[in-house]
Amino acid sequence: MSRPAIFLDRDGVINEDVGYAWRQADIRWVRNAPEAIAWLNRRGYLVVVVTNQSGIARGYYSERDFDVLTGWMHAALGQYGARIDAVYHCPHHPTAGQPPYNVVCNCRKPKPGLLVKAIGDLGIDPARSLMIGDKLTDMEAAAAAGVPGLLFPGGDLLEFVRDALDNG
Ligand SMILES: [Mg+2]
Repeated sequence: MSRPAIFLDRDGVINEDVGYAWRQADIRWVRNAPEAIAWLNRRGYLVVVVTNQSGIARGYYSERDFDVLTGWMHAALGQYGARIDAVYHCPHHPTAGQPPYNVVCNCRKPKPGLLVKAIGDLGIDPARSLMIGDKLTDMEAAAAAGVPGLLFPGGDLLEFVRDALDNG
């Protein structure tokens, strides 16, 4: 049985987009983002992060650095009772950086590869799911994967997801 998921972009939706965040010190939660994730968990949605991380291609940080930060974020969110079920990232950039990362890939948003992979891996029903992102490229990726998209303008993420998902 396929499940609904809420796909979240990371930078600009969960944490403030400071540009190539890779250290714990770079992470400032978007207002009520941990609370929003916990709310989605309680509603029974899978919470899946889909994030472009061309800082890896550009050599600003490594896959290992990304994994360490992701592990820290899981633990930090856990203190709010919030759980991210899966994280999919694209380390590529079509022109910048070094092999093997400077390639035209199918996963860098606006391409839908990250969402398509998650849908297959986790048995997600795209039509009953939602992508929340802060850029048009997030919306394009969602549309190409058959997932409805909502552009997050900033502010309070809990308020935003409640407005989006509560029926009245
Ligand atoms: Mg973003």
